[in-house]
Amino acid sequence: MLFPFQNTYARLPRTFHVRVDPSPVSAPEWIAVNRNLAEDLGIDPDALESAEGLAVLSGNRVPEGAEPLAAAYSGHQFGGFSPVLGDGRAILLGEVIHRDGRHRDIQLKGSGPTPFSRRGDGRSALGPVLREYLVSEAMHALGIPTTRALAAVWSGDMVYREEVEPGGVFTRVASSHLRIGTCEYFSSRGDFESLRLLVDYALRRHDPERVDAENPALALLEGVMERQASLVARWMGLGFIHGVMNTDNMSLSGETIDYGPCAFLDRYDPAKKFSFIDRNGRYAYGNQPNIAHWNLARLAEALLPLVAEEETTAIRLVTEVLERFPDLFRREWSRTFSAKVGFPGESGREPAERLLALMEDQFVDFTLAFRHLRNALSAEGPFLALFTWSDPVRHWLSGWRSALSEHGISEEEASSRMRAVNPVIIPRNHRIEAAIAAGKDRDFEPFHRLHRLLASPYEENSGSRDFESPPLPAEEVQATFCGT
Ligand code: AMP
Ligand code: MG
Repeated sequence: MLFPFQNTYARLPRTFHVRVDPSPVSAPEWIAVNRNLAEDLGIDPDALESAEGLAVLSGNRVPEGAEPLAAAYSGHQFGGFSPVLGDGRAILLGEVIHRDGRHRDIQLKGSGPTPFSRRGDGRSALGPVLREYLVSEAMHALGIPTTRALAAVWSGDMVYREEVEPGGVFTRVASSHLRIGTCEYFSSRGDFESLRLLVDYALRRHDPERVDAENPALALLEGVMERQASLVARWMGLGFIHGVMNTDNMSLSGETIDYGPCAFLDRYDPAKKFSFIDRNGRYAYGNQPNIAHWNLARLAEALLPLVAEEETTAIRLVTEVLERFPDLFRREWSRTFSAKVGFPGESGREPAERLLALMEDQFVDFTLAFRHLRNALSAEGPFLALFTWSDPVRHWLSGWRSALSEHGISEEEASSRMRAVNPVIIPRNHRIEAAIAAGKDRDFEPFHRLHRLLASPYEENSGSRDFESPPLPAEEVQATFCGT
Protein backbone atom coordinates (compact mmCIF):
# COMPACT_ATOMS: atom_id res chain seq x y z
CA MET A 1 0.00 0.00 0.00
CA LEU A 2 1.54 3.29 -1.13
CA PHE A 3 -0.21 5.42 1.47
CA PRO A 4 -1.11 3.95 4.87
CA PHE A 5 -4.43 5.84 4.89
CA GLN A 6 -6.43 6.25 8.09
CA ASN A 7 -9.26 8.45 6.95
CA THR A 8 -11.49 10.31 9.34
CA TYR A 9 -12.94 13.17 7.27
CA ALA A 10 -14.58 10.72 4.87
CA ARG A 11 -16.37 9.23 7.90
CA LEU A 12 -18.14 12.53 8.63
CA PRO A 13 -21.70 12.86 7.28
CA ARG A 14 -22.47 13.61 3.65
CA THR A 15 -23.14 17.25 4.49
CA PHE A 16 -19.35 17.69 4.81
CA HIS A 17 -18.16 16.56 1.39
CA VAL A 18 -18.87 15.11 -2.00
CA ARG A 19 -17.13 11.96 -3.20
CA VAL A 20 -15.30 12.64 -6.45
CA ASP A 21 -12.32 11.04 -8.19
CA PRO A 22 -9.46 13.00 -9.72
CA SER A 23 -9.58 13.34 -13.51
CA PRO A 24 -6.61 11.95 -15.44
CA VAL A 25 -3.94 14.09 -17.11
CA SER A 26 -2.26 13.33 -20.44
CA ALA A 27 1.45 12.89 -19.90
CA PRO A 28 2.54 13.31 -16.28
CA GLU A 29 6.19 13.81 -15.35
CA TRP A 30 7.77 14.53 -11.99
CA ILE A 31 8.94 18.02 -11.24
CA ALA A 32 9.69 17.41 -7.56
CA VAL A 33 9.10 14.80 -4.89
CA ASN A 34 9.62 15.59 -1.22
CA ARG A 35 11.27 12.39 -0.01
CA ASN A 36 11.98 13.64 3.52
CA LEU A 37 8.38 14.60 4.06
CA ALA A 38 7.25 11.25 2.66
CA GLU A 39 9.34 9.48 5.29
CA ASP A 40 7.84 11.62 8.04
CA LEU A 41 4.43 10.52 6.80
CA GLY A 42 5.26 6.81 6.84
CA ILE A 43 5.36 6.65 3.04
CA ASP A 44 8.19 4.77 1.32
CA PRO A 45 9.96 7.46 -0.74
CA ASP A 46 11.10 4.98 -3.41
CA ALA A 47 7.58 3.66 -3.85
CA LEU A 48 6.32 7.24 -3.99
CA GLU A 49 8.83 8.11 -6.70
CA SER A 50 7.86 5.07 -8.78
CA ALA A 51 5.63 4.99 -11.85
CA GLU A 52 2.74 4.05 -9.62
CA GLY A 53 3.42 7.01 -7.34
CA LEU A 54 3.45 9.31 -10.35
CA ALA A 55 0.15 7.87 -11.55
CA VAL A 56 -1.37 8.55 -8.13
CA LEU A 57 -0.01 12.05 -7.62
CA SER A 58 -1.01 13.15 -11.10
CA GLY A 59 -4.57 11.98 -10.42
CA ASN A 60 -4.40 9.16 -12.97
CA ARG A 61 -4.90 6.37 -10.45
CA VAL A 62 -6.80 6.27 -7.18
CA PRO A 63 -4.57 4.45 -4.69
CA GLU A 64 -5.72 1.68 -2.40
CA GLY A 65 -7.28 3.04 0.75
CA ALA A 66 -8.02 6.49 -0.67
CA GLU A 67 -11.53 7.92 -0.40
CA PRO A 68 -11.27 10.94 -2.68
CA LEU A 69 -13.57 13.81 -1.83
CA ALA A 70 -14.14 17.52 -2.27
CA ALA A 71 -14.84 19.32 1.00
CA ALA A 72 -17.66 21.83 1.37
CA TYR A 73 -17.01 25.32 2.73
CA SER A 74 -18.14 28.92 2.44
CA GLY A 75 -16.12 32.08 2.83
CA HIS A 76 -16.02 35.82 3.18
CA GLN A 77 -14.06 36.95 0.15
CA PHE A 78 -12.86 40.55 0.34
CA GLY A 79 -15.58 41.14 2.93
CA GLY A 80 -18.51 39.66 0.99
CA PHE A 81 -20.05 36.32 1.89
CA SER A 82 -20.08 33.43 -0.61
CA PRO A 83 -22.29 30.70 0.82
CA VAL A 84 -20.86 27.89 -1.32
CA LEU A 85 -17.18 27.72 -2.29
CA GLY A 86 -15.71 24.30 -1.48
CA ASP A 87 -12.85 22.38 -3.10
CA GLY A 88 -13.25 23.43 -6.70
CA ARG A 89 -9.81 22.39 -7.88
CA ALA A 90 -8.62 20.20 -5.04
CA ILE A 91 -9.41 16.65 -4.00
CA LEU A 92 -8.59 15.10 -0.65
CA LEU A 93 -7.23 11.58 -1.14
CA GLY A 94 -7.20 10.72 2.54
CA GLU A 95 -5.19 11.05 5.75
CA VAL A 96 -2.00 9.45 6.97
CA ILE A 97 -0.33 9.57 10.37
CA HIS A 98 2.76 11.76 10.69
CA ARG A 99 5.77 10.73 12.76
CA ASP A 100 4.44 13.15 15.41
CA GLY A 101 1.40 10.90 15.86
CA ARG A 102 -1.09 13.33 14.33
CA HIS A 103 -3.12 13.05 11.15
CA ARG A 104 -2.17 14.80 7.91
CA ASP A 105 -4.37 15.32 4.88
CA ILE A 106 -2.99 14.35 1.48
CA GLN A 107 -4.66 16.56 -1.09
CA LEU A 108 -4.24 16.93 -4.83
CA LYS A 109 -4.58 20.44 -6.21
CA GLY A 110 -5.34 20.91 -9.89
CA SER A 111 -6.72 17.38 -10.25
CA GLY A 112 -9.86 18.22 -12.19
CA PRO A 113 -13.39 19.41 -11.65
CA THR A 114 -15.57 18.73 -8.63
CA PRO A 115 -19.19 19.66 -7.89
CA PHE A 116 -17.74 22.88 -6.38
CA SER A 117 -15.89 23.97 -9.53
CA ARG A 118 -18.66 26.27 -10.78
CA ARG A 119 -17.25 27.68 -14.02
CA GLY A 120 -13.65 26.71 -13.18
CA ASP A 121 -11.79 23.84 -14.83
CA GLY A 122 -10.50 22.35 -11.58
CA ARG A 123 -6.96 22.63 -12.91
CA SER A 124 -3.83 24.47 -11.82
CA ALA A 125 -1.42 26.31 -14.01
CA LEU A 126 2.22 25.42 -13.50
CA GLY A 127 3.10 28.82 -12.00
CA PRO A 128 0.95 28.52 -8.86
CA VAL A 129 2.15 24.91 -8.39
CA LEU A 130 5.80 25.95 -8.41
CA ARG A 131 5.11 28.99 -6.23
CA GLU A 132 3.23 27.01 -3.60
CA TYR A 133 5.91 24.31 -3.58
CA LEU A 134 8.75 26.80 -3.12
CA VAL A 135 7.07 29.16 -0.69
CA SER A 136 5.40 26.58 1.55
CA GLU A 137 8.64 24.59 1.89
CA ALA A 138 10.58 27.81 2.52
CA MET A 139 8.09 28.81 5.21
CA HIS A 140 8.56 25.43 6.83
CA ALA A 141 12.35 25.83 6.76
CA LEU A 142 11.89 29.31 8.26
CA GLY A 143 9.98 27.72 11.14
CA ILE A 144 6.49 29.02 10.28
CA PRO A 145 3.46 26.74 10.66
CA THR A 146 2.41 25.88 7.14
CA THR A 147 0.95 23.28 4.84
CA ARG A 148 3.68 21.32 3.08
CA ALA A 149 4.54 20.23 -0.43
CA LEU A 150 4.78 16.51 -1.11
CA ALA A 151 5.07 16.68 -4.89
CA ALA A 152 4.73 18.72 -8.04
CA VAL A 153 3.83 17.11 -11.34
CA TRP A 154 3.91 18.37 -14.90
CA SER A 155 0.53 17.32 -16.33
CA GLY A 156 1.27 17.38 -20.04
CA ASP A 157 -1.95 19.36 -20.60
CA MET A 158 -2.40 23.04 -21.24
CA VAL A 159 -4.69 25.24 -19.15
CA TYR A 160 -6.46 28.35 -20.36
CA ARG A 161 -6.00 31.44 -18.21
CA GLU A 162 -5.07 34.96 -19.36
CA GLU A 163 -2.95 32.97 -21.77
CA VAL A 164 -2.43 29.29 -22.54
CA GLU A 165 -0.11 27.79 -19.96
CA PRO A 166 1.26 24.38 -19.06
CA GLY A 167 -0.70 22.71 -16.28
CA GLY A 168 0.48 21.02 -13.10
CA VAL A 169 -0.76 18.97 -10.17
CA PHE A 170 0.39 19.82 -6.68
CA THR A 171 0.21 17.48 -3.68
CA ARG A 172 -0.40 19.33 -0.46
CA VAL A 173 -0.03 18.01 3.05
CA ALA A 174 -1.93 19.78 5.82
CA SER A 175 -2.78 19.20 9.48
CA SER A 176 -6.30 19.53 8.13
CA HIS A 177 -8.12 21.55 5.52
CA LEU A 178 -10.67 22.89 7.99
CA ARG A 179 -11.18 26.58 7.47
CA ILE A 180 -13.15 29.34 9.16
CA GLY A 181 -15.27 29.01 6.03
CA THR A 182 -16.09 25.39 6.93
CA CYS A 183 -17.81 26.60 10.11
CA GLU A 184 -19.56 29.37 8.15
CA TYR A 185 -20.85 26.79 5.67
CA PHE A 186 -22.90 24.87 8.23
CA SER A 187 -23.88 27.90 10.28
CA SER A 188 -25.19 29.83 7.29
CA ARG A 189 -27.38 26.89 6.29
CA GLY A 190 -28.70 26.50 9.82
CA ASP A 191 -27.22 22.99 10.01
CA PHE A 192 -26.17 23.19 13.64
CA GLU A 193 -25.93 19.43 14.02
CA SER A 194 -23.13 19.31 11.44
CA LEU A 195 -21.61 22.42 13.00
CA ARG A 196 -21.49 20.64 16.34
CA LEU A 197 -19.81 17.61 14.76
CA LEU A 198 -17.33 19.91 13.05
CA VAL A 199 -16.40 21.66 16.31
CA ASP A 200 -15.83 18.33 18.00
CA TYR A 201 -13.81 17.05 15.04
CA ALA A 202 -11.70 20.21 14.88
CA LEU A 203 -10.95 20.07 18.60
CA ARG A 204 -9.89 16.44 18.33
CA ARG A 205 -7.51 17.24 15.49
CA HIS A 206 -6.12 20.56 16.63
CA ASP A 207 -6.85 21.04 20.32
CA PRO A 208 -6.93 17.61 21.92
CA GLU A 209 -6.48 19.23 25.35
CA ARG A 210 -9.66 21.28 24.82
CA VAL A 211 -11.88 18.38 23.69
CA ASP A 212 -13.57 18.15 27.08
CA ALA A 213 -14.02 21.90 27.48
CA GLU A 214 -17.27 22.96 29.07
CA ASN A 215 -18.05 25.12 26.06
CA PRO A 216 -16.45 23.42 23.04
CA ALA A 217 -17.36 26.11 20.50
CA LEU A 218 -15.86 28.84 22.67
CA ALA A 219 -12.80 26.67 23.28
CA LEU A 220 -12.34 26.26 19.53
CA LEU A 221 -12.62 30.01 18.99
CA GLU A 222 -9.95 30.58 21.64
CA GLY A 223 -7.64 27.97 20.16
CA VAL A 224 -7.96 29.35 16.62
CA MET A 225 -7.46 32.89 17.88
CA GLU A 226 -4.28 32.01 19.74
CA ARG A 227 -2.85 30.15 16.75
CA GLN A 228 -3.75 32.89 14.29
CA ALA A 229 -2.35 35.67 16.48
CA SER A 230 0.94 33.82 16.66
CA LEU A 231 0.93 32.94 12.96
CA VAL A 232 0.27 36.45 11.68
CA ALA A 233 2.93 37.90 14.01
CA ARG A 234 5.41 35.42 12.60
CA TRP A 235 4.44 36.23 9.02
CA MET A 236 5.12 39.85 9.80
CA GLY A 237 8.50 38.98 11.25
CA LEU A 238 9.48 37.70 7.83
CA GLY A 239 7.82 40.40 5.76
CA PHE A 240 5.29 37.89 4.46
CA ILE A 241 2.07 39.08 2.84
CA HIS A 242 -0.48 36.31 2.39
CA GLY A 243 -2.45 38.30 -0.14
CA VAL A 244 -5.91 36.66 0.14
CA MET A 245 -6.83 36.34 3.79
CA ASN A 246 -10.42 35.44 2.99
CA THR A 247 -12.12 33.35 5.68
CA ASP A 248 -11.96 30.31 3.38
CA ASN A 249 -8.17 30.70 3.30
CA MET A 250 -7.71 30.84 7.07
CA SER A 251 -7.23 27.44 8.63
CA LEU A 252 -8.47 26.31 12.03
CA SER A 253 -5.12 24.55 12.55
CA GLY A 254 -3.15 27.80 12.47
CA GLU A 255 -1.10 26.76 9.46
CA THR A 256 -0.46 29.10 6.56
CA ILE A 257 -2.68 27.79 3.78
CA ASP A 258 -3.66 28.62 0.20
CA TYR A 259 -0.61 30.37 -1.16
CA GLY A 260 -2.11 32.43 -3.94
CA PRO A 261 -0.79 35.90 -4.70
CA CYS A 262 1.48 35.80 -1.65
CA ALA A 263 4.70 37.80 -1.60
CA PHE A 264 7.50 39.05 0.61
CA LEU A 265 8.34 42.66 1.33
CA ASP A 266 11.43 44.00 -0.29
CA ARG A 267 11.69 47.49 1.20
CA TYR A 268 9.79 47.96 4.42
CA ASP A 269 6.39 49.53 3.82
CA PRO A 270 3.48 48.61 6.10
CA ALA A 271 0.97 49.58 3.38
CA LYS A 272 2.54 47.26 0.82
CA LYS A 273 0.34 44.87 -1.15
CA PHE A 274 1.15 42.95 -4.30
CA SER A 275 -2.06 41.17 -5.19
CA PHE A 276 -3.58 42.49 -8.37
CA ILE A 277 -7.13 41.90 -7.18
CA ASP A 278 -6.57 43.55 -3.79
CA ARG A 279 -7.23 47.03 -5.12
CA ASN A 280 -7.83 48.71 -1.77
CA GLY A 281 -5.02 47.03 0.12
CA ARG A 282 -7.41 45.12 2.38
CA TYR A 283 -4.75 42.43 2.73
CA ALA A 284 -1.72 44.75 2.83
CA TYR A 285 1.25 43.78 5.03
CA GLY A 286 0.33 45.99 7.98
CA ASN A 287 -3.40 45.25 7.81
CA GLN A 288 -3.01 41.51 8.35
CA PRO A 289 -3.62 41.58 12.12
CA ASN A 290 -6.83 43.61 11.64
CA ILE A 291 -8.04 41.16 9.05
CA ALA A 292 -7.19 38.18 11.25
CA HIS A 293 -9.31 39.79 13.96
CA TRP A 294 -12.13 40.46 11.49
CA ASN A 295 -12.02 36.86 10.28
CA LEU A 296 -12.12 35.58 13.86
CA ALA A 297 -15.25 37.67 14.39
CA ARG A 298 -16.81 35.81 11.42
CA LEU A 299 -15.80 32.53 13.07
CA ALA A 300 -17.35 33.71 16.34
CA GLU A 301 -20.59 34.62 14.53
CA ALA A 302 -20.72 31.23 12.89
CA LEU A 303 -20.28 29.51 16.25
CA LEU A 304 -22.82 31.64 18.14
CA PRO A 305 -25.67 29.09 18.04
CA LEU A 306 -23.45 26.57 19.83
CA VAL A 307 -21.95 28.96 22.36
CA ALA A 308 -25.14 29.57 24.32
CA GLU A 309 -28.84 29.07 23.81
CA GLU A 310 -29.57 32.66 24.46
CA GLU A 311 -28.14 34.91 21.75
CA THR A 312 -27.25 37.81 24.04
CA THR A 313 -25.30 35.44 26.29
CA ALA A 314 -23.56 33.90 23.29
CA ILE A 315 -22.62 37.34 21.97
CA ARG A 316 -21.28 38.40 25.36
CA LEU A 317 -19.15 35.25 25.64
CA VAL A 318 -17.60 35.48 22.17
CA THR A 319 -17.06 39.22 22.55
CA GLU A 320 -15.04 38.61 25.72
CA VAL A 321 -12.84 36.24 23.75
CA LEU A 322 -12.47 38.47 20.68
CA GLU A 323 -11.61 41.51 22.80
CA ARG A 324 -8.45 39.73 23.89
CA PHE A 325 -7.12 39.60 20.35
CA PRO A 326 -5.37 42.99 20.18
CA ASP A 327 -3.33 42.33 23.33
CA LEU A 328 -2.64 38.79 22.33
CA PHE A 329 -1.41 39.88 18.92
CA ARG A 330 0.64 42.71 20.42
CA ARG A 331 2.38 40.23 22.68
CA GLU A 332 3.11 37.84 19.82
CA TRP A 333 4.35 40.72 17.67
CA SER A 334 6.56 42.04 20.48
CA ARG A 335 8.06 38.59 21.02
CA THR A 336 8.76 38.15 17.33
CA PHE A 337 10.34 41.56 16.83
CA SER A 338 12.20 41.57 20.16
CA ALA A 339 14.06 38.46 19.06
CA LYS A 340 14.81 40.10 15.71
CA VAL A 341 16.75 42.84 17.53
CA GLY A 342 18.38 40.37 19.94
CA PHE A 343 16.15 40.73 23.04
CA PRO A 344 14.37 38.00 25.01
CA GLY A 345 10.62 37.98 25.61
CA GLU A 346 8.96 41.27 24.76
CA SER A 347 11.80 43.43 26.01
CA GLY A 348 12.97 44.65 22.60
CA ARG A 349 9.68 46.11 21.41
CA GLU A 350 10.76 49.77 21.60
CA PRO A 351 14.10 49.46 19.81
CA ALA A 352 12.37 47.30 17.19
CA GLU A 353 9.66 49.90 16.60
CA ARG A 354 12.22 52.68 16.28
CA LEU A 355 14.26 50.66 13.82
CA LEU A 356 11.18 49.92 11.70
CA ALA A 357 10.37 53.63 11.58
CA LEU A 358 13.89 54.38 10.28
CA MET A 359 13.63 51.59 7.73
CA GLU A 360 10.31 52.91 6.50
CA ASP A 361 11.57 56.52 6.24
CA GLN A 362 14.64 55.46 4.32
CA PHE A 363 13.10 52.77 2.06
CA VAL A 364 15.30 50.03 3.48
CA ASP A 365 15.01 46.40 2.52
CA PHE A 366 13.28 44.50 5.33
CA THR A 367 15.19 41.22 5.12
CA LEU A 368 18.61 42.79 4.54
CA ALA A 369 18.26 45.18 7.47
CA PHE A 370 17.70 42.38 9.98
CA ARG A 371 20.14 40.12 8.20
CA HIS A 372 22.96 42.68 8.63
CA LEU A 373 21.83 43.52 12.14
CA ARG A 374 22.84 39.94 13.04
CA ASN A 375 26.47 40.97 12.68
CA ALA A 376 26.16 44.66 13.54
CA LEU A 377 27.53 44.28 17.06
CA SER A 378 30.91 43.38 15.59
CA ALA A 379 30.64 45.07 12.17
CA GLU A 380 28.25 47.99 11.69
CA GLY A 381 29.33 48.76 8.12
CA PRO A 382 27.00 46.53 6.05
CA PHE A 383 24.01 47.50 8.21
CA LEU A 384 24.74 51.23 8.02
CA ALA A 385 25.30 51.01 4.28
CA LEU A 386 21.64 50.13 3.77
CA PHE A 387 20.56 53.59 4.90
CA THR A 388 20.85 56.86 3.02
CA TRP A 389 21.10 59.13 6.08
CA SER A 390 23.33 57.49 8.61
CA ASP A 391 23.08 59.93 11.56
CA PRO A 392 19.74 58.73 12.96
CA VAL A 393 20.87 55.15 12.37
CA ARG A 394 24.12 55.62 14.30
CA HIS A 395 22.05 57.15 17.06
CA TRP A 396 19.74 54.12 17.00
CA LEU A 397 22.71 51.74 17.07
CA SER A 398 24.18 53.33 20.14
CA GLY A 399 20.80 53.36 21.93
CA TRP A 400 20.37 49.73 20.98
CA ARG A 401 23.77 48.75 22.37
CA SER A 402 23.04 50.52 25.65
CA ALA A 403 19.60 48.90 25.93
CA LEU A 404 21.17 45.47 25.38
CA SER A 405 23.72 46.05 28.10
CA GLU A 406 21.11 47.54 30.47
CA HIS A 407 19.19 44.29 30.08
CA GLY A 408 22.40 42.33 30.76
CA ILE A 409 22.36 40.76 27.30
CA SER A 410 25.80 39.82 26.02
CA GLU A 411 26.84 40.36 22.41
CA GLU A 412 27.00 36.60 21.84
CA GLU A 413 23.54 36.09 23.26
CA ALA A 414 22.02 38.86 21.15
CA SER A 415 23.79 37.75 18.00
CA SER A 416 22.86 34.13 18.33
CA ARG A 417 19.24 35.08 19.04
CA MET A 418 19.18 37.23 15.89
CA ARG A 419 20.84 34.52 13.81
CA ALA A 420 18.05 32.14 14.76
CA VAL A 421 15.24 34.41 13.54
CA ASN A 422 16.64 36.81 10.92
CA PRO A 423 17.01 34.87 7.67
CA VAL A 424 19.83 35.35 5.20
CA ILE A 425 17.64 34.23 2.35
CA ILE A 426 13.89 34.32 1.72
CA PRO A 427 11.86 33.41 -1.37
CA ARG A 428 12.14 36.82 -3.01
CA ASN A 429 9.29 37.51 -5.41
CA HIS A 430 11.52 38.09 -8.42
CA ARG A 431 13.39 34.82 -7.83
CA ILE A 432 10.12 32.90 -7.63
CA GLU A 433 8.98 34.55 -10.85
CA ALA A 434 12.24 33.65 -12.56
CA ALA A 435 11.92 30.01 -11.45
CA ILE A 436 8.36 29.94 -12.77
CA ALA A 437 9.30 31.53 -16.09
CA ALA A 438 12.05 28.92 -16.62
CA GLY A 439 9.67 26.14 -15.52
CA LYS A 440 7.18 27.08 -18.21
CA ASP A 441 9.99 26.37 -20.69
CA ARG A 442 10.57 23.06 -18.91
CA ASP A 443 13.79 24.23 -17.31
CA PHE A 444 13.45 23.31 -13.64
CA GLU A 445 17.05 24.01 -12.65
CA PRO A 446 16.24 27.51 -11.22
CA PHE A 447 13.35 25.97 -9.26
CA HIS A 448 15.55 23.25 -7.76
CA ARG A 449 18.40 25.65 -7.05
CA LEU A 450 16.10 28.05 -5.21
CA HIS A 451 14.53 25.18 -3.32
CA ARG A 452 17.96 23.94 -2.18
CA LEU A 453 19.06 27.39 -1.01
CA LEU A 454 15.81 27.98 0.86
CA ALA A 455 16.22 24.76 2.82
CA SER A 456 18.63 26.44 5.28
CA PRO A 457 17.54 30.08 5.28
CA TYR A 458 19.32 31.14 8.46
CA GLU A 459 22.80 30.00 7.40
CA GLU A 460 25.34 32.26 5.77
CA ASN A 461 26.23 30.62 2.50
CA SER A 462 28.52 32.15 -0.07
CA GLY A 463 26.57 30.33 -2.81
CA SER A 464 23.43 32.25 -1.96
CA ARG A 465 24.83 35.82 -2.27
CA ASP A 466 22.95 36.58 -5.49
CA PHE A 467 19.76 35.30 -3.99
CA GLU A 468 20.01 37.51 -0.91
CA SER A 469 19.75 40.75 -2.82
CA PRO A 470 16.60 42.70 -3.45
CA PRO A 471 15.48 43.02 -7.06
CA LEU A 472 17.01 45.56 -9.39
CA PRO A 473 14.36 48.10 -10.42
CA ALA A 474 13.70 46.21 -13.66
CA GLU A 475 13.31 42.91 -11.77
CA GLU A 476 10.80 44.23 -9.26
CA VAL A 477 7.55 42.29 -9.16
CA GLN A 478 4.77 44.85 -9.50
CA ALA A 479 1.77 42.62 -8.91
CA THR A 480 0.95 39.00 -8.14
CA PHE A 481 -2.03 37.05 -9.39
CA CYS A 482 -4.22 34.35 -7.93
CA GLY A 483 -3.50 32.07 -10.84
CA THR A 484 -6.89 30.40 -10.55
P1 AMP B 1 -8.83 30.65 -3.68
O1 AMP B 1 -9.26 31.91 -2.99
O2 AMP B 1 -7.92 30.85 -4.84
O3 AMP B 1 -8.27 29.66 -2.71
O4 AMP B 1 -10.15 29.98 -4.33
C1 AMP B 1 -11.45 30.37 -4.02
C2 AMP B 1 -12.47 29.37 -4.57
O5 AMP B 1 -12.39 29.24 -5.98
C3 AMP B 1 -12.32 27.96 -4.02
O6 AMP B 1 -13.61 27.43 -3.82
C4 AMP B 1 -11.61 27.23 -5.14
O7 AMP B 1 -11.87 25.85 -5.10
C5 AMP B 1 -12.23 27.88 -6.37
N1 AMP B 1 -11.35 27.79 -7.54
C6 AMP B 1 -10.22 28.47 -7.75
N2 AMP B 1 -9.65 28.13 -8.92
C7 AMP B 1 -10.44 27.20 -9.49
C8 AMP B 1 -10.39 26.44 -10.71
N3 AMP B 1 -9.40 26.58 -11.61
N4 AMP B 1 -11.39 25.57 -10.95
C9 AMP B 1 -12.39 25.42 -10.07
N5 AMP B 1 -12.49 26.09 -8.91
C10 AMP B 1 -11.53 26.97 -8.61
MG1 MG C 1 -8.72 29.00 -1.05
